Amino acid sequence: MSLNQLATHGHRLFVDVHTHVYLPRYASFLRSRTTAPRIFSRPNTDNADGTSEERLLILDNEPSGGRPVGPQYWDREEKLKFMDRHGIDVSIISSANPWLDFLPASTAHTLANELNEDLETYCSTSPTLTGLHNLKRLYGFGLLPLVPSAPISSLLETIDQISKLPHLRGIIMGTKGIGKGLDDDALEPVWEALAKTGLVVFLHPHYGVDSNAWGEKENGHVLPLALGFPFETTTAITRLILSGTFDRHPTLRILLAHSGGTLPLLSSRLASCIAHDPLVASRLQHDARHYLGNLYFDAVAYGAEELGFVSDVIGRAGAYEGKAGRKDADGKVGLDERRRVGSERMLFGTDHPFFPPLSETEKWMSVVENLDAIESVDGWTEKEKDAVRGGNALKLFGLS
Ligand code: URA
Ligand code: ZN
Repeated sequence: MSLNQLATHGHRLFVDVHTHVYLPRYASFLRSRTTAPRIFSRPNTDNADGTSEERLLILDNEPSGGRPVGPQYWDREEKLKFMDRHGIDVSIISSANPWLDFLPASTAHTLANELNEDLETYCSTSPTLTGLHNLKRLYGFGLLPLVPSAPISSLLETIDQISKLPHLRGIIMGTKGIGKGLDDDALEPVWEALAKTGLVVFLHPHYGVDSNAWGEKENGHVLPLALGFPFETTTAITRLILSGTFDRHPTLRILLAHSGGTLPLLSSRLASCIAHDPLVASRLQHDARHYLGNLYFDAVAYGAEELGFVSDVIGRAGAYEGKAGRKDADGKVGLDERRRVGSERMLFGTDHPFFPPLSETEKWMSVVENLDAIESVDGWTEKEKDAVRGGNALKLFGLS
């Protein structure tokens, strides 16, 4: 049975909200560069048959001379094949890091606008998912020219452009803003515009943390990816919370990569540190734990216990409204109820085309692990699992 037929037969849709592309225009641009980020060719190291391989270097000091890349990274047919292989009905595609971060402001503006049009076409000309749902297989997150010295007018114009492209339902954003991070006062009109348009902001890491933290042992990409990426996201979103952005714009819709990094585990410690620091405490309207209930989290955590825990801390956010301490202290809401409430803000993702299988296999381990994790969360009913696999995304991106 084809996916379209499955949809017709009431199959609950799988939606991947964390899946990347280097659009052909962007990949060509990276090929034209001689410093990172760049795509370059070198003789294939796996065999001495005279063929060459393309490699992607996204950071100057990247381990292992970057990584091999191929059509999975830019070819739409490969994306659709990957989706079919894993039963993914709809994908919300985002450009992969480092986006436009390294460009001068005027180039970034032009390229952002061109890439947004490219992504609109990539999605609007994708196959339709027939049946009950008149949906395309592909929707997208656009790009803003968030680079140092970018005029705010250029960011606002691009938000306007994206909001008029019907298949773009959000933007993907790194953590640098226009040079001073996301808590920069200069970005206030940008948050205001994003809150007004309802575009979903996918907050995604790129830089990790200072690589001196990784020591001298050769560990490939493991430490920057497993720890550096989530720490970067944690810092960025925490700074945004501390700046009062969610007090001013409670309707902002921010989706955190990799299940919010370490924020879920550290949010009570964060609340305690704030409570001991009057400068910050007086600035915020709520206990820090409350703000987790404003956020959305992808379910790219690779383990059922982690997903359950994340849903638990999201689900308790309502008890921390205001600053007077836990509101439900007498009759604490039960675990299943917290997990149910939290699950409404969690969304399946794959991080494709990163984390490819090491050998040709039917399915990608990274995808199977994330689907198994959703399937095995204690306290999530089938209804909640279906919502995390797709229903939440249909609602969040206005696809239902
Ligand atoms: N996943 C990403 O999204 N980007 C990377 O650079 C690596 C993994
Ligand atoms: Zn990613």
